[in-house]
Amino acid sequence: MTDATVPHIAGNAGALSARQRDLIERAAVLGRDKFAARAARWDREASFPFENFADLRDAGLLGICVPQSHGGLGADFATYVMVAAELGRHCGSTALSFNMHVCSTMWPGFIADALEMHTDERADHERIRSLHFARVVGEGKIYSQPFSEGGAAAAGKAPWGTLAVRVPGSRGGYHVRGKKIFASLSGAADYYGVLCTLEDPHHGGGSLRDSLYLAVPADAPGVTIVGDWDPLGMRGTVSRTLQFDDVWVPDEARLMPEGLYFQATQRYPYMFATLSPTYMGIAQAAYDFTVAYLRGEVAGMAPVKRRMYPTKQIAVADMRIKLEQTRALFLQTAREARVDPDKDARMRLLAAHYTIMENANDICRLALRTCGGQAMLKSLPLERMYRDSRCGSLMLPWTAELCVDRVGRECLYESGERDEPIES
Ligand SMILES: Cc1cc2nc3c(=O)[nH]c(=O)nc-3n(C[C@H](O)[C@H](O)[C@H](O)COP(=O)(O)OP(=O)(O)OC[C@H]3O[C@@H](n4cnc5c(N)ncnc54)[C@H](O)[C@@H]3O)c2cc1C
Repeated sequence: MTDATVPHIAGNAGALSARQRDLIERAAVLGRDKFAARAARWDREASFPFENFADLRDAGLLGICVPQSHGGLGADFATYVMVAAELGRHCGSTALSFNMHVCSTMWPGFIADALEMHTDERADHERIRSLHFARVVGEGKIYSQPFSEGGAAAAGKAPWGTLAVRVPGSRGGYHVRGKKIFASLSGAADYYGVLCTLEDPHHGGGSLRDSLYLAVPADAPGVTIVGDWDPLGMRGTVSRTLQFDDVWVPDEARLMPEGLYFQATQRYPYMFATLSPTYMGIAQAAYDFTVAYLRGEVAGMAPVKRRMYPTKQIAVADMRIKLEQTRALFLQTAREARVDPDKDARMRLLAAHYTIMENANDICRLALRTCGGQAMLKSLPLERMYRDSRCGSLMLPWTAELCVDRVGRECLYESGERDEPIES
């Protein structure tokens, strides 16, 4: 395929704004020219793509979702997810880690702007977030987003086991204690955006409503990284375990005011759908690779064409149809993102997330079967895409199973409906 015939990640690029085209192109240039060639190394070593983050920083992309009023690029949800998908096309681990960083600016940024706050609270949030945004835009600092704990909390079914206790008196701030597993960017981020339960020392442990989102400096006393990292896929995310042993952070560590995270989860479910764009990109990349392979155009390989076999044509058609189905849902929900979506929009969002995660892996499976034995060699990127793609539907809070669970229930029940006990 020539550059002109490589499909655009957003399908019809003519439907995009000039700004969106520009930001996606920035990601495409970095991905094509730099990230694709480096991806095998992070995968082999299970090491963090520091060079890629330096390039993202130089391109201004670390501040992609920092509001323009704070010096960032001010991307909205639709723009960001298309950029993230383009990155995923070239290096899954970089795109997924980048997403953890970007969420730490998107949630306090345009998501917080869409939510209810008292005037004083909003002013205080504006003051505090300006410190975090200045670190990202001015100093190139990297944030991450560890919330998984190995219990029911990351699925949204129980309060966070990681606790924050308010420190009384002039020193202020919070003491944080607990553990986070699968913390992508462990050892690479400057700040870990930790979800905790705000514990009231007089009234005991809190509920989901008492969730608190704090940026803990990676070098704060009491922060340690433990365990190894040798997974099947997404190896460059370096998602090791973080321990917080009575770590003190100041009030300014709050990425959102107390109570706002819970409101966000109830009113802006799109906040959890930012993991899937990476996998949209991987699906596209597996398709791109297959077309190049069957046309005998993969760099470094003998130019043997395999496109004339009808079975290959059927397989590639199947892949393209799945890819376009996936992209259609991806783009529709990207453009629908808004606060307080109705039930239908929520269901579409879950269906889109599920579809992207499952189809990415299925498209990679078809790609390997179609291209054949040589395509699974580690000298080519397809086997890495296959392994990376497997991780998507395992990621909480919206694993494939949990999406099916919720969609099935919500198809059959309206809010508050219960069944009568069945008499035996
Ligand atoms: C490459 C990679 C990077 C990651 N990076 C991060 C990160 O940066 N930050 C972060 O916080 N997490 C991260 N995660 C973790 C991820 O989001 C999940 O939390 C983790 O994979 C869950 O693993 P677990 O075995 O503890 O899941 P469990 O909680 O044991 O769940 C196992 C399965 O059971 C099902 N299940 C769970 N709860 C319920 C329920 N209540 N009802 C029905 N079914 C349920 C789900 O389908 C789930 O897949 C990452 C994961 C991967 C694979």
